[in-house]
Amino acid sequence: MKMEKSGPAKKSSVKNGNGQNSDSKFELIRCERNGVRCKSHLAFINEEYSISETYLQNKEYQKSIEALNEAFYRTYQLKETTCINCAKMFRSTIIRSLEDIQIELKGMSQGLFKTRRYQSSYILAGDVLKSIKEEAKVS
Ligand SMILES: [Zn+2]
Repeated sequence: MKMEKSGPAKKSSVKNGNGQNSDSKFELIRCERNGVRCKSHLAFINEEYSISETYLQNKEYQKSIEALNEAFYRTYQLKETTCINCAKMFRSTIIRSLEDIQIELKGMSQGLFKTRRYQSSYILAGDVLKSIKEEAKVS
């Protein structure tokens, strides 16, 4: 996805079921030098996030979780001081998304239609959440 330096907001932004802009979820607000250093990382984060949403819609939880995990660790590449707060916000958004997935999977792994696939994804969600929350705490 190509990021424009500035200019008017996109007129036709596609909304998904959550009312979020599914095109680029994350924006850097005060990037220095037009975000030269951050642009590629931001594009990667947005891409992984939208990939994770697509997987989620297809109930491919494992891949969805992995994409969020990738996006999470990439936020640490946003190292400009002006962007650190944005990166923190991105991480908490990613954590919230993972928590939503975990809740969804909890029901599916324990419900009437439980399957081994959902159980293992539920465990994966828990493991990933635990380690990224740990990571977010120390950094
Ligand atoms: Zn930046």
